Amino acid sequence: MFDHVCTACAKRQLIFSSMVRGIDNTEHGLVVHFDCWCGAEQQLVTGRGARRPRTLTAA
Ligand SMILES: [Zn+2]
Repeated sequence: MFDHVCTACAKRQLIFSSMVRGIDNTEHGLVVHFDCWCGAEQQLVTGRGARRPRTLTAA
């Protein structure tokens, strides 16, 4: 279970595992495909590959 802000209805909803349609392991991380409560197809990129490297700034 995780929370997600839907790109269609703009609501922050809890997404349950039963709503997940699939998970793709890509070079950008794990892409979770699921349906929002409103019925819109959504994606979430997560996992180790989704982390962005820290940006270092000169002092
Ligand atoms: Zn929605």
